[in-house]
Amino acid sequence: MFHKILIANRGEIAVRIIRACKELGIRSVAVYSEADRDCMHARLADESVCIGPASSSLSYLNIAAIMAAAELTDAQAIHPGFGFLAENAEFAEIVNESGLVWIGPTPESMRIMGDKVTAKKKMEIAGVPLVPGSDGAVKDIEEARAIAKKSGFPLIIKASAGGGGRGMKVVHSEASFSNAFSMCKAEAGAAFGDDTVFIEKFLVEPRHIEVQVLGDTHGNIVHLYERECSMQRNNQKVLEEAPSPSIDAETREKICAAGLAAAKAVDYVGAGTIEFLMNADNSFYFMEMNTRIQVEHPVTEWITGVDLIEWQIRVANGEKLAFKQEDLKIKGHAIECRINAEHPFKFTPSPGTVELYHAPGGRSVRVDSHLYTGYKIPPHYDSMIGKIITHARDREKCIRRMQRAIDELVVLGVTTNQELHQRLLANPGFQKGEFNIHFLEKWLKQMSL
Ligand code: ADP
Repeated sequence: MFHKILIANRGEIAVRIIRACKELGIRSVAVYSEADRDCMHARLADESVCIGPASSSLSYLNIAAIMAAAELTDAQAIHPGFGFLAENAEFAEIVNESGLVWIGPTPESMRIMGDKVTAKKKMEIAGVPLVPGSDGAVKDIEEARAIAKKSGFPLIIKASAGGGGRGMKVVHSEASFSNAFSMCKAEAGAAFGDDTVFIEKFLVEPRHIEVQVLGDTHGNIVHLYERECSMQRNNQKVLEEAPSPSIDAETREKICAAGLAAAKAVDYVGAGTIEFLMNADNSFYFMEMNTRIQVEHPVTEWITGVDLIEWQIRVANGEKLAFKQEDLKIKGHAIECRINAEHPFKFTPSPGTVELYHAPGGRSVRVDSHLYTGYKIPPHYDSMIGKIITHARDREKCIRRMQRAIDELVVLGVTTNQELHQRLLANPGFQKGEFNIHFLEKWLKQMSL
């Protein structure tokens, strides 16, 4: 096993990875920006190295500084967490070429999945269902018009190199199509240095369901079932759960098999997620693969009993998966609420000093957070300050457990989205499990808070 791992991330996920290292008897190295000197991850790790000023581009995205920190501390492997450099194939390559171990998939599978047109081609060959649309890249406006005519509206124009909700345009009618197409192409070129675009049918009220996979370097790949992530605002997930409350056993089997086929098509190693959009009739389509650990991984850990970060590390160390597909069974239900330092209904960020922090506890409650009383939340990074996860034998009990856990949370000094979760958990539509990706935004509009 590795003797030392460097964690190229900050906050909650860095703390999560440091904890896994400690449990495996591995020394951990934290890197931190000048704004994060007092951040929990820098304190909890065995060693910590300052890698630059507050701005992410000069610190958490600064490959040279991170590689220097790894060399200085004699780390053997690098865990990228999520966000920042986690899906940067070039960084993964640099890590590998420096003789260190990248805790993640091969740069090649990252590249394939990072380019949407290439990814869709691969998935088509693997027999994974795709959203109907153009056959790969669309060259020019004539070709685009012909496709639009055939598939009808609404449709969505996407940049092949896009990500994080950027580089997409929904078009509702022919009148605005040509304009939208030229704009999307030009914007893609400017933002991503690649103006390749393609067209998909726009699904009107889909759910977001994703499948967790895990592969080792010996050719074994398993799925760890699905997560329901339809509770979103601005394409940002707010609350996730596993298993999905809205699919039956037959659909579950199909979508998990499709996720597995997708992972196998790129000889996937490590933890990854295949995202699908699902229609009301349970037909589903591949959307994209995230080649990293996800924020919402704890719900899967809870229903399967598998420690995903531990297995990312073990697999990177060349170990074989210690379980087979048939060993993995769903046990109970798990829900995660993302706690953000922001106004619960206006969503304006609320950095500042945490005057008092009290985390919920009790049976089957997990809190992943880097908060502590006196901590000063810097304004430079994502507003997520923690995650509360609950588990119970069924969904109803899990919701009630989450309600009491959210009520127990105390964060004074900054504003959090605690009240949003309190209201959402009490919402009848949520409780019945009847929602799609527009549910939260529509509901917020209705409340007009
Ligand atoms: P990104 O890589 O930027 O996250 P995705 O392709 O994953 O882009 O899409 C992000 C979001 O956009 C999805 O979660 C979904 O809400 C919406 N979306 C993408 N494609 C479609 C589609 N064909 N129909 C309806 N909504 C879509």
